Amino acid sequence: MKKVYIVGAGPGDPELITIKGQRLLKEADVIIYAGSLVNPALLDYAKADCTIYNSATMTLDEVIKVISDAVGRNLKVVRLHTGDPAIYGAIQEQMDALKRLNINFSVVPGVSSFLASAAALKQEYTLPKISQTVIITRNAGRTPVPEKESLKALAAHNATMCIFLSVHMLDEVVKELIEGGYADDTPIAIVQKASWPEQKIVRGTLKDIAVKAAAESITRTAMIVVGRCLDTNYELSRLYAPEFTHMYRKGIDLKK
Ligand code: SAH
Repeated sequence: MKKVYIVGAGPGDPELITIKGQRLLKEADVIIYAGSLVNPALLDYAKADCTIYNSATMTLDEVIKVISDAVGRNLKVVRLHTGDPAIYGAIQEQMDALKRLNINFSVVPGVSSFLASAAALKQEYTLPKISQTVIITRNAGRTPVPEKESLKALAAHNATMCIFLSVHMLDEVVKELIEGGYADDTPIAIVQKASWPEQKIVRGTLKDIAVKAAAESITRTAMIVVGRCLDTNYELSRLYAPEFTHMYRKGIDLKK
């Protein structure tokens, strides 16, 4: 049976879509892509007679109508979302609408931009004795954020934070992070368009990042990464320590 696939496009680089996602793009009769962020180069995978829609100018009802019409004609549909669809993808309402219409669908995950940003920064987010937690969040904008999850409240953990959708409010983000408990010399990095050819990285501290980002004219499509992991001082992981025994390796006794 032909089906509907909600597919993660990855962060930008067309090679960072999954093999499954790429295959589905090649097979699709209809593709609806999130035009604001999905790299249009991914559409080169589509077959010549594929009908392509850009959802940036469509409403939810219009997207669902395109999908249900296509399914009615027994066509294969790919709904292409940037990064991973589960993160700020507004897919729940689409999936629920499809369920109400008894339309069968599957979700294919993708590489989220917070991970592409780690790759761009050549950074591990979970360093021993620094932080073992990554908080994925955003500042409140037109979409509200529950008070308990305000940046100020989350900052109290001093964990590694990846802040989406907020670089245009960088001043406010920095203020909340400092008020919430990060020291003002905490390192912070901004990655704009991670994995795209025009990728840009700005590094600084909470004190100076706003000025540096403004100087580079970074105002959208960027990830804010904050936390001490961006410093260079950390303990080595136990996993590869010579004396550490685990399921796959017997450690050696260093005292012998
Ligand atoms: N589902 C997507 C996020 C969509 S929300 C994902 O998993 O990545 C859009 C926000 O994601 C942007 O405002 C920006 O904060 C971030 N973003 C998306 N693509 C990005 C990229 N290539 N580099 C840095 N940040 C990106």
